[in-house]
Amino acid sequence: MQRTTVGDYTIDALADGLIRLPTPFFPGLDPAEHAEVLDPDGTVHVPTGAFLVRGQGRTILVDAGFGPRETGFPAGTTPAAGDPAPPMGEGGDLLAALATAGVQPEDVDTVFVTHLHSDHVGWLAPQGDPAFAGARIVHGAADWQPLVGRLSHDDWSRIGLEAVRAAGSVEAIHGDAVPLAPGITARHAPGHTPGHYVLDVEADGERLILLGDVIHTPVQLRDDRVRFIADHDPEEAARTRRRWLDEAERSDAVIAPTHFPGMEFLRLGPGREARAV
Ligand SMILES: [Zn+2]
Repeated sequence: MQRTTVGDYTIDALADGLIRLPTPFFPGLDPAEHAEVLDPDGTVHVPTGAFLVRGQGRTILVDAGFGPRETGFPAGTTPAAGDPAPPMGEGGDLLAALATAGVQPEDVDTVFVTHLHSDHVGWLAPQGDPAFAGARIVHGAADWQPLVGRLSHDDWSRIGLEAVRAAGSVEAIHGDAVPLAPGITARHAPGHTPGHYVLDVEADGERLILLGDVIHTPVQLRDDRVRFIADHDPEEAARTRRRWLDEAERSDAVIAPTHFPGMEFLRLGPGREARAV
């Protein structure tokens, strides 16, 4: 389990599962040029999970993983090679990872959801039962209608989100900067989705930026042409990505994107080379 600290805060990376992404999910990615991102099964493996932020009497979960489920490859895509062929997405490990960190679901006071895609809300309420009974669920207001509103009513993530909303636990946020705890601020970072936020953790002169899906693969650190297929507004997503990478470089902040290999905590060096801290 990856762990870092920022002042009095301790931050753990909690893995939930794995998504196997066919290379066309990354428009602009030339697999011949970036063979290092390919698994032998022919797809790009990305972890799915959450980050746990503890300190100042607070227990904040950042994102809620993929959830205890499997998904297949969409029609028209080349699935991962294997016999039997593996699923495209699989989750289920988050609560065990949370327990390993010494936290029970009822200890979580806030679930901050960077955005409302299904691989970030999977454990909010599996089968409609809220998993974090004592928590307020915080997300960007601008995501609900374009993302959740278009899903069918039996969609996994819609069922979970509507369950926590019906329980009165949801706080939809607006604006550029929303304080969540001492030194912890949600900052609007739109593009991947309209209501996407990053979480900025600052204490004792140290800084960590939990980037969510501002960036999806290390290839995008240095190659602006590489996009992600699920970006709601690709141009805005690219601007936001540059903005937050510049900000991390300028302030020597540690970054943690959701989907980088190993869910590592990284610092950007010369030429945007990312090194684990
Ligand atoms: Zn994601």
